[in-house]
Amino acid sequence: ALTTGIVGLPNVGKSTLFNAITQAGAESANYPFCTIDPNVGIVEVPDQRLQTLTELVNPKKTVPTAFEFTDIAGIVEGASKGEGLGNKFLSHIRQVDAISHVVRCFNDGDITHVSGSVDPIRDIEVINLELILADLETVEKRSAKVAKMAKSKDKDAVAEYDVLQKLIAVFEEEKPARSLDLSDEEKKIVHGFQLLTMKPVLYVANVSEEDLLSEEDNQYVQAVKEYAAKEGSEVITVCAKIESEIAELEGEEKQEFLDELGIEESGLDQLIKAAYTLLGLETYFTAGEQEVRAWTIKSGTKAPQAAGVIHSDFERGFIRAEVVSYEDLVTAGSMNAAKEAGNVRLEGKDYVVQDGDVVHFRFNV
Ligand code: GDP
Repeated sequence: ALTTGIVGLPNVGKSTLFNAITQAGAESANYPFCTIDPNVGIVEVPDQRLQTLTELVNPKKTVPTAFEFTDIAGIVEGASKGEGLGNKFLSHIRQVDAISHVVRCFNDGDITHVSGSVDPIRDIEVINLELILADLETVEKRSAKVAKMAKSKDKDAVAEYDVLQKLIAVFEEEKPARSLDLSDEEKKIVHGFQLLTMKPVLYVANVSEEDLLSEEDNQYVQAVKEYAAKEGSEVITVCAKIESEIAELEGEEKQEFLDELGIEESGLDQLIKAAYTLLGLETYFTAGEQEVRAWTIKSGTKAPQAAGVIHSDFERGFIRAEVVSYEDLVTAGSMNAAKEAGNVRLEGKDYVVQDGDVVHFRFNV
């Protein structure tokens, strides 16, 4: 399963946030495809559409879809040289598909900052530099290997060598690989290197209780936003401490607490949605009388593979899919009305399932 790794320097609020994630946590019994591991937190994806479909269909059961956050502890300055749990840390990052980078944006004299003061940009750069140095080592090694073949004018080797030089140059400027403007062809080549700084990043600004409630961003958050904008990354503002309190509540109690705080959506819910999008994930629905359920697919997935998320038999025996978009179904008011309006399509094995599709699969057993 695709997962996003939570990273950050010590004492920035990672554990507090990760605890909120596991606290809010989904029943793993519902999600057999998810990993059972103390460092993995399974979260349900908040989706208003699922509630609306439930009201429409009135099923016995409603099941949201879920995905994983992985807690990656142990980064310190010098990780790329093996300091602390350096190498282990880097190998854990290599295994995740996206990064949620928690940054301390709260002042609290009682809580020591590893570098003595609160400075989110310096913190971000400490971690990013370790990742950049690790990547630089990867590409330099590769470059030395490819250089000979490139001299013999092997076309692929020349293309690879050229991309490697671009990467080396960007790393020497202490910038991540994702900040490079690459052609599709180049991206394909770079994909093979499994670079740490190619992974999409979401910055999570951890602010104090007071700052979460004030309209204006604090200066730290503003700085993070400016930094993130330059590399095309997104920023989510949370107060990890409050999130851990919210995570203990459910349903109406949770809503009341949010209302009291004067916030529309918990930071955790925003983080979950942003991480889901960052991973390139989308949701389709099945809506029967037994169960209304959300399912996760990678954007661009075709109908048989989307069916395979439910059960491998569905993929193997796929015949066709009956598909109606969420909007059309809601406008029509019922599946029958949508059929009468001609909004239910029959799609074959080459159909690319769209976010929000409500699907009924036909298959041979
Ligand atoms: P980690 O080392 O990054 O995992 O950081 P922790 O989650 O253990 O947090 C370090 C300390 O900061 C703990 O004492 C937390 O209670 C505190 N902390 C975490 N988030 C917040 C927050 O949003 N506001 C305040 N005031 N303190 C926080």
